[in-house]
Formats: sequence, C-alpha cells, structure tokens
Amino acid sequence: RDQSKKQLSEGMDLLTKFYHYLLATAKFGKSGMNYLNDRGFTKDMIERFQLGYAIDSWDTATSLLERRQVNLGQMEKAGLIGKRGFDNKYFDRFRNRIIFPIFNPRGQTVAFAGRTLGDEKPKYLNTPESSLFHKGKILYGYHLARQSIRKSNQAVLLEGYVDVIRAHQAGVTNSVASMGTSLTEEQAAMLFRAAETIIICYDSDTAGIEASFRAAAMFQESNKIVKIAKMPEGFDPDDYIRKFGGERFKSDVIGASQTLMTFKMDYFRRKRNLVDEGDRLLYIEEVLKEISTLKRAVERDHYLRLLAEEFSISLDALKRQEMQMYKAAK
Ligand code: ATP
Ligand code: MN
Ligand code: MN
Ligand code: MN
Repeated sequence: RDQSKKQLSEGMDLLTKFYHYLLATAKFGKSGMNYLNDRGFTKDMIERFQLGYAIDSWDTATSLLERRQVNLGQMEKAGLIGKRGFDNKYFDRFRNRIIFPIFNPRGQTVAFAGRTLGDEKPKYLNTPESSLFHKGKILYGYHLARQSIRKSNQAVLLEGYVDVIRAHQAGVTNSVASMGTSLTEEQAAMLFRAAETIIICYDSDTAGIEASFRAAAMFQESNKIVKIAKMPEGFDPDDYIRKFGGERFKSDVIGASQTLMTFKMDYFRRKRNLVDEGDRLLYIEEVLKEISTLKRAVERDHYLRLLAEEFSISLDALKRQEMQMYKAAK
C-alpha cells in the first residue's frame, strides 16, 4: 500500500514537471503562456505554483507515462488519464487546459485542476480523491503560505486557485483557498492551528457571502478571531486586485475586514429599506436572532447596544426580546 502511494506520488510529481515544461516550451506552451500573460500572472508565480499547460492532444501525457513505465492503471484510477471503453486504450484527460497542481503541505503533488482557456464547461476539471488526496483536508497554497501565516499570525481564506496566486503576487502571501465555497472542519482546523486571526475573503456573490457566514460560524466556537472581508458586488479577490491593485486590496479589503456580526448587520441592512417601518422591524428581528446565537454574553451585550443606538430604542426592550430568542434557540 505504501509502495503504491509512493508510485502514485512519483507519477504525479512527474506530470507536474511535464506540464510545467510544456508551458515553458515555445513550441507547445504558447497558447497556455499567452493565457497566463493576458491574465497578468508573472513568471515568478508560474514558477512558485508550478503552473503548467496540457497541450491539445489525446496521448502526450499518456505516452510520457508509458515511456517512464508508470503504472497506467493506477494513474487512471487517480483521474490523471482516462480509459476508452471500446478498446481499453488510455488517453489524456487534460487537453488544452492550464494545469494547477495541488500540493500537500510538504509540497508534493496530490491532485490536479485544469482550467479551460475559454469558457467551455467544465471550467475546472479536477482529479478525484485518491490515497494521496482527500479534498477536505487540503488547502490550496498552504505549502507556500504556511510560514507567512505563522509569522503574521493571520491567515487569509479565499475561494479559488487564481485568487491565491494573485494574492501571493500582490504580496498577501498568507493566503490559501478552500477550493470552492464549502470549507470543511479539517481545513478550518488547519487554519486554527496556524493562526490567531482568520480573514475570510470569498467571492462577493450570494454563494460566496452565504458561504462566508457558514465558514465564520465554524471558527466561532474557538477563541480565534474571525473576520470577513468585503468587496464590491461581483468581484473576487483576483478581479479586485487586477482592477484596484494589491495595496488597495491590503488596506480596503483585508485591512477593513469586519467581525461576522458587523458584516451580517451590513448585509441585512443592504437587503432592506430601513426608511420603511416594517422593514426596520424585520431588520431588528433578523439581527436579534443572530445576536441570540452568540455564545458569549459580553458579545451579545455589545451588539445589543449597537442596535439600540442605531434605532434609538430602549436597550431593555431589546434585551428582553433577545433573551426570549436565546431561550427559544437553546
Ligand atoms: P477564474 O477566475 O479562472 O474564472 P475562479 O477561481 O474565479 O476562476 P470560481 O468559479 O469563482 O472560479 O470558482 C472558485 C473555485 O471553486 C475554483 O478556483 C475551484 O477551486 C472551484 N471550482 C469552481 N468550478 C469548479 C468545477 N467545475 N469543478 C471543481 N472545482 C471548481
Ligand atoms: Mn520552471
Ligand atoms: Mn471566483
Ligand atoms: Mn475569478
């Protein structure tokens, strides 16, 4: 078993090097390199993240693996190559895609994601789970971010591969990605162990915002500080940095991140028209409900006061109502 894991690992590392080599080779890698240049990724980042390119071919990677006598059945199981039903021939799964190797904390490749150059579907093709890769236990970019996370005692959690690469390029080297919006307990635990403060900066769309709430809730039990960063609607960190630059990302997004409750209050407020009395009551109710879920009494008290001030209502009345909700929720 250990032997087969070692083989798989070697096969993956070989492919990482191969795709990376193809990208850098003028003859093969041109369209891949043009794509990355157009998106403004530097040579340095292409190296650090070992980005690659799978050429538009059905047998290039497969022949390499064959020549190097890699166990093809094993590579097929790990989703790196496919097998045709009618003649049992192996073929390349990644064709005409930018390759993002996914590394474990030791910097060994455990999976791949391949992105189309255009808008074909699926945008990202991923290798499945294997003996080396349990998706929920890996954070993209962690092997490069770990030191910086420790040093700053702060981790920035993003959604996507390109967000992490762009953030590192802008100097925010304590960034990692959950690879999609669903943060797992294991991923959360990795961040816990590494840093005191976690800043969640998911894409600014409904899915991303709702996922930020869920992710933040996972950290709430601990004594960690969880903050949510806010960007203009429709932006992800990569878009934001390209448009406004890394310095503004650091000051206006990461630097201005808010606690979960403040972020939620903002979000609820934007959904409603607070000049309208009915909406105002609904808003207050919504916020009270959130406050009642907080574990610490000091925290509940703090937000109740904010709410009381915001609408000049009596703190006592708010407290009574919140207490009812708190009891009901228990
Ligand atoms: P790009 O800027 O290149 O479009 P993105 O990272 O902004 O990429 P999103 O659609 O925001 O792409 O997705 C965020 C992350 O979710 C991706 O980086 C990837 O980790 C994961 N993801 C998205 N689509 C897929 C998919 N079809 N299969 C697997 N993972 C996916
Ligand atoms: Mn290189
Ligand atoms: Mn995105
Ligand atoms: Mn994007």
